[in-house]
Amino acid sequence: MNLGCIADDFTGGTDLANNLVRAGMRTVQVIGVPNHENPGDAPDCDAVVVALKSRTAPVAEAVAQSLAAARWLRAQGATQIYFKVCSTFDSTPQGNIGPVTEALMDALGADFTVVTPAFPENARTVFKGHLFVGDLLLSDSPMKHHPLTPMTDANLVRVMQAQLDPARGRRVGLVDYRVVAQGPEAIGRRIEALRAEGAAMAVVDGLNDDDLRVLARAAVELPLVVAGSGLAIGIPALHGLQPDARAAQLPPAGGARAVVSGSCSAATNAQVAAFLAAGGEGFAIDPLQLATGRDLAAEALAWARPRLGAAPVLVYATAEPAAVRAVQQQLGAEQAGALVEQTLSRIAKGLVAAGVGQLIVAGGETSGACVQALGITQLRIGPQIDPGVPWCHAATPARAAGLHLALKSGNFGGPDFFHRAFELL
Ligand code: ADP
Repeated sequence: MNLGCIADDFTGGTDLANNLVRAGMRTVQVIGVPNHENPGDAPDCDAVVVALKSRTAPVAEAVAQSLAAARWLRAQGATQIYFKVCSTFDSTPQGNIGPVTEALMDALGADFTVVTPAFPENARTVFKGHLFVGDLLLSDSPMKHHPLTPMTDANLVRVMQAQLDPARGRRVGLVDYRVVAQGPEAIGRRIEALRAEGAAMAVVDGLNDDDLRVLARAAVELPLVVAGSGLAIGIPALHGLQPDARAAQLPPAGGARAVVSGSCSAATNAQVAAFLAAGGEGFAIDPLQLATGRDLAAEALAWARPRLGAAPVLVYATAEPAAVRAVQQQLGAEQAGALVEQTLSRIAKGLVAAGVGQLIVAGGETSGACVQALGITQLRIGPQIDPGVPWCHAATPARAAGLHLALKSGNFGGPDFFHRAFELL
């Protein structure tokens, strides 16, 4: 194994694995840090992604999990650690991107690292250190309404600096697009200059795929890189690997089809609306009803069971920003999130027990909760549905034949994603 990756959420893990597989790296994703119950013996592959659910965990927990993942990956032979963060840099002023980066730098003895969430194929670009989502600055994008990690500043140098521990004195610099355009050696020289000025990391601009390939080459000797999934497109070639479709083969699919959606991102709202508008059947979960103690998981499963098999069914808590705000005002953002995640994960488990063999989960946190409830420890990465979202196959105690699973990050995928995903399978 050459590359060891730590993803701060589960959909981010599959997004990264998808890019590595497409560029020719045989990749396995393990759920959580392997331990005695889940030994995760060094799989025969070129890269391993350890998927954590640390994006919105308390800082100390996120740091501890990430350090444990790094230790395990290094013990398996990883020569470089790739800390995968969200392409919209989802985090809070407390972290966790900054504190985890600092802890990994300490553990790996890294005196410098590069940071870029750029993923041009998915319309995430970084210009002069500012993150754009499509044509909008991050702070003008729908990410400003995220239920758990509202992003209100597009200047990543400032965002990252604010998350670092002032006592450690690390400073964040910028490698801008003009330097990147001059190639890996120019980036190397800029990094040396920043080091001399006392910076310990740099946000790096990325406007197109070539920028990311150049950065991957420039960063090949760094023990740690911090990036969205985009940087991954440049890494396999550095290890002499070429794109190979066989890397993405999965077993044949079977069983009923279902979607469980806990994402409230703009793209997911459009996908849920399109699914229902096209005549798809859906069951809505209202968090305020959950808070009264009503067992909506049981109700959703009773609704879904007789419908399974004919066409895909949808169970969703997905709601528009105003509705999410109203719920959060009554319940608190964290409590509402936890309540919905717990309910949707029970539903996902119940659906698979009832015969679902092809499951889409929308939402990063939601995916983490569902994968854990399903007792999944390892995913094989298959063909891409949309940029950032592949079909995967996993063993689960809930289904002897295994489960085909698509973990969709909230803002990924076109409006007809749900239908198209099942057609592709
Ligand atoms: P995304 O990938 O879009 O960020 P996540 O699943 O990571 O989606 O995050 C969405 C969060 O919002 C989850 O914690 C989820 O439980 C919560 N949530 C879902 N529906 C609602 C709702 N109607 N009101 C409040 N919170 C919700």
